[in-house]
Amino acid sequence: MSGLAKAFREKLERAATVGTLSVKADTLSGDGTRKWLFDIGGGSAIETVFIPEETRGTLCVSTQAGCAMECVFCSTGRQGFRRNLSTAEIIFQLWRAERVLRASGGARAGHRVITNVVLMGMGEPLLNLDNLLPALRLMLDDDAYGLARRRVTVSTSGIVPMMDRLAAECPVALAVSLHAAYDELRDRLMPVNRKYSLASLLAACRRYSARSPRDFITFEYVMLAGVNDGERDAAALIALLSDVPSKVNLIPFNPFERSGFSRSTSDVIKRFNDRLNVAGILTTTRRTRGDDIDAACGQLAGRVAFR
Ligand code: SF4
Repeated sequence: MSGLAKAFREKLERAATVGTLSVKADTLSGDGTRKWLFDIGGGSAIETVFIPEETRGTLCVSTQAGCAMECVFCSTGRQGFRRNLSTAEIIFQLWRAERVLRASGGARAGHRVITNVVLMGMGEPLLNLDNLLPALRLMLDDDAYGLARRRVTVSTSGIVPMMDRLAAECPVALAVSLHAAYDELRDRLMPVNRKYSLASLLAACRRYSARSPRDFITFEYVMLAGVNDGERDAAALIALLSDVPSKVNLIPFNPFERSGFSRSTSDVIKRFNDRLNVAGILTTTRRTRGDDIDAACGQLAGRVAFR
């Protein structure tokens, strides 16, 4: 960097380091899904997953090592919390994946390999918002990655005040991990609900809608056999989402060791899906991708052993 002024070089030297994370594992699934395990030091590792589809390539990025939210059906939640990722560690995942995929011929000329980023890997992104916001701005900046706001999605388990802050400071697409449509059940599945109830969460979603680059909020709903997949649950969900522009993603549960839950049958998932669609809520069932490499939703870090 000899082209830079000496004083500025010295300032940079004091303020910044140039480095990269080492790769502990790089796994390719039979369906093209690719998962990296990056060493972040101190015995911790994070995971990043690329999911190729016909018309887009989605990168699922982690924001924390582990997660403090303790959702009982989630493999990452069972691992406990280690630490927040820095802005550099968050943006590194995109930088690294883009480079590797490009080098391995994943891009057609003039096309991006990674067209969408979802902050849905390990961790609760909104509990690391100070580090996440600069990373989001780099993803959106035309001089960096230049992704459209609606192609970057932040997922949250429902940290209400931080949803308002995200809306005010960097409104990108929002996905809410809902997983239950009434408080009594959500309190049990997701302890965050004891602090921010469904009523306050849905009110925050309505406020967010006014700033969202998409005309809907995505609600994630994992299908747990006999727990949240019945007629009562479908009816409660329809009522709950009646005045929020919504899209629902049903996620067939991916069992992991000692989870204590099992996946709803395909028939039950289809019935639930149809019930919501008939009620006018756009609903899709997520195809399980990459489950041969533990990269499907809720399986991230399932096999990462913290020392
Ligand atoms: S579902 Fe999300 S918020 Fe809940 S424990 Fe897992 S990673 Fe954390």
